[in-house]
Amino acid sequence: MTYNKKSVADIDVAGKKVLVRCDFNVPIKDGIITDEKRIVGALPTIKYLVEKGAKVILCSHMGRPHNVFNEKLALDKKEKKKIEALPEEEREAATAAALEKAKGDVKKLSLKPVADRLNELGVKTTLCADVIGPDAQAKAAALKDGEVILLENVRFHAEEEKNDPAFSQALASLAEIYVNDAFGTAHRAHSSTAGVAAYLPAVCGFLIEKEISVMGKALDDPKRPFVAILGGAKVSDKIGVINNLIEKVDTLIIGGGMAYTFFRAMGSPIGSSICEEDKLDLALDMMKKAHDKGVALLLPVDNVIGREYREDTTFMRIYSDAIPDGWMGLDIGEKTQELFSKSLIGAGTVVWNGPMGVSEWPNFASGTRAVAKAVAESGAISIIGGGDSAAAVEQLGYADQMTHISTGGGASLEFLEGLELPGIACLQDKD
Ligand code: AMP
Repeated sequence: MTYNKKSVADIDVAGKKVLVRCDFNVPIKDGIITDEKRIVGALPTIKYLVEKGAKVILCSHMGRPHNVFNEKLALDKKEKKKIEALPEEEREAATAAALEKAKGDVKKLSLKPVADRLNELGVKTTLCADVIGPDAQAKAAALKDGEVILLENVRFHAEEEKNDPAFSQALASLAEIYVNDAFGTAHRAHSSTAGVAAYLPAVCGFLIEKEISVMGKALDDPKRPFVAILGGAKVSDKIGVINNLIEKVDTLIIGGGMAYTFFRAMGSPIGSSICEEDKLDLALDMMKKAHDKGVALLLPVDNVIGREYREDTTFMRIYSDAIPDGWMGLDIGEKTQELFSKSLIGAGTVVWNGPMGVSEWPNFASGTRAVAKAVAESGAISIIGGGDSAAAVEQLGYADQMTHISTGGGASLEFLEGLELPGIACLQDKD
């Protein structure tokens, strides 16, 4: 996949209807948006289009609603199966209850709070009552230059996630140009993230442009030394990333729960630490590969251990990588923090995905904090994969000091794995 994609700045958008796929899937509690990063992140592209006199049609998903705008498909397969398994006399009532619940989702997962927030942030936005229905069609047709509408939650149609061609075409028929700026869903081949590109000239927004230029450069032509830090719960989630990065990095640091699978593979005692027994051979293979390629592979040398997997469990530091029975490793220890931090001094590029311990719990957050500090102070081009590591860096207050914090968890992992992301592959290449 080439990372050299055309962006909104490379095409003429004045007076054109532009369908912009954003990632407005923000957390909402009691009708209040609790984290508006994704909305703020979408503003540069939206404001640019408004300033250039485009007719802007915003579109996004929110959560995982039922399919509420297509009567025939109103209940998803799982639900239909559940109902079919019931005694016949109960099915009618169960169907009615399920449809009622689906209707409730319209309210709960409506994009109304997003439209309200966009208005407060200075983008005058009108919310449509549907996605491809009469209201959206009428509002799109009536758009004047520089005006903005927001379609309702695109996942109110089950066809969206099926990348249904008729649905993609209906979406596309609202506009003349497609802009994808939703990196968080770029690894999904859905109608609004990829399907529409079959019917419209397709380019990226500024958010995706930044994601692919920073991460693409790091993978293709990194400033060296190139250090990857991988953590998190499981080796199995990161196999693809390790495999791809081991070909490119100078140093590979492994911390977090996944380190214990490596220790177990080497025969070191790990107590009741998280471990994937079926990945022991794989861990040994990775170690051999690193050795053969001359990649320095760093594992923890000491740990913070706890009795149980609980926030308030009894815990202590041990100055060894061997964990006694009845204890589990929940964070890297101080010597390891020092070792990992030292290896970051002078790094040219650092890519980090996955916390060093159970960083959601204060007693087990210091390893992740120390690594965040070391990455921030390294002066390297620093790229933080989305999801837990991004949340940890933000929560610990180091966000401003990183070069790039990816807005996509799954998408950034797939990017680091070297996989083709359908939402990016479908966009036009630069000439
Ligand atoms: P991931 O989504 O794979 O990046 O994993 C993130 C999760 O890994 C977080 O929820 C952490 O709590 C968890 N994690 C990190 N270290 C450990 C550990 N030593 N034991 C259990 N879970 C861990």
